[in-house]
Amino acid sequence: MEECIFCKIANSEIPAKIIAESEKSTAFLDVNPLSKGHTLVVPKSHAETVLDLSEEDWCDMNRLVKDVVARIYDRLSPDGFNIGINMHKAGGQAVEHIHIHIIPRWQGDGGGSVHTIVHNPPQESLEEIHAQLS
Ligand code: 5GP
Ligand code: ZN
Repeated sequence: MEECIFCKIANSEIPAKIIAESEKSTAFLDVNPLSKGHTLVVPKSHAETVLDLSEEDWCDMNRLVKDVVARIYDRLSPDGFNIGINMHKAGGQAVEHIHIHIIPRWQGDGGGSVHTIVHNPPQESLEEIHAQLS
């Protein structure tokens, strides 16, 4: 993907503050950090969402997430983390190359949790939804 900014970072074509790498993934600091140590983990080969990723690349990304969380925990001593993916425009995805956000959190930092992302409870019962998904 020639125009993809995260492909360029992963291929060292443009600079980024890379903090860790594995065979198939790269971790670098978000240029607009939401907190100290806010890091993005991306696959080195282009994929827009988790559905476009090979099993191997997905596992590799998640292994690197764990390593980076451990390192941030050790060196920056946060009290917690939010770890997640914005998928598609409706989910807030701005860069169309999958990335896992690792956002260190501190007690009293004023932020919320995943529960504050959206409040759009379903009209259907849990039984109906369970039937659709099982
Ligand atoms: P999204 O909304 O797609 O989940 O988030 C994209 C993230 O990528 C944002 O947090 C944004 O600050 C970060 N970002 C966008 N462009 C660049 C860039 O060129 N370099 C780095 N390091 N981060 C970027
Ligand atoms: Zn890409």
